[in-house]
Amino acid sequence: MVTLTRNMRDGLTPESALQMLKDGNHRFVTNLKMNRNLLQQVNDTSDEQYPFAFILSCIDSRTSAELIFDQGLGDIFSCRIAGNILNEDILGSMEFACKVAGAKLVMVLGHSECGAIKGACNHVKMGNLAGLLKKIRVVVKEVSKLGKVDVKSSDFVELVSKENVKNVLKNIPKKSKIVRDLVKDEKIIIVGAMYDISSGKADFY
Ligand SMILES: [Zn+2]
Repeated sequence: MVTLTRNMRDGLTPESALQMLKDGNHRFVTNLKMNRNLLQQVNDTSDEQYPFAFILSCIDSRTSAELIFDQGLGDIFSCRIAGNILNEDILGSMEFACKVAGAKLVMVLGHSECGAIKGACNHVKMGNLAGLLKKIRVVVKEVSKLGKVDVKSSDFVELVSKENVKNVLKNIPKKSKIVRDLVKDEKIIIVGAMYDISSGKADFY
């Protein structure tokens, strides 16, 4: 696998960028990872980078976007924060990645067994974490209002994780005119996915 050049990256459609992530996750779960020379990629990217995607995912040690989508150096902007929540700084990073640096796709990636989602479901209040979990509490309240699943069950946590991704997906274009315009002009797409920490598989939606 060669490192992405400007021509290669600019030649991608948003849909082909999504396919690259799907193919990468398929390689990951089938243990057919690409044979990359990372040190060569350090060289290749020393002057410039042309990443094709921006991935907002959780800090969880089991969900490294580069690994689970089998990507190398210079391939993706990886933005990680507990519970893959959204804030102004993350939106600003996303705007830079897509508008300035030319990424073709924004992905919001949630995952199973997420500690941040569990914390929000269990009303955890601790130091600076409290403010972060508050952003997920909004989703917890919405899901509990639906009354579909017992709030004490693991199914509830999983449902909140999925709805949290959907909520972030909904808020990105709402809160960023730059991203909204890029979507409208069909320069980028915004997609959601859930990663299963027990199978290594990402489900896209
Ligand atoms: Zn997590």
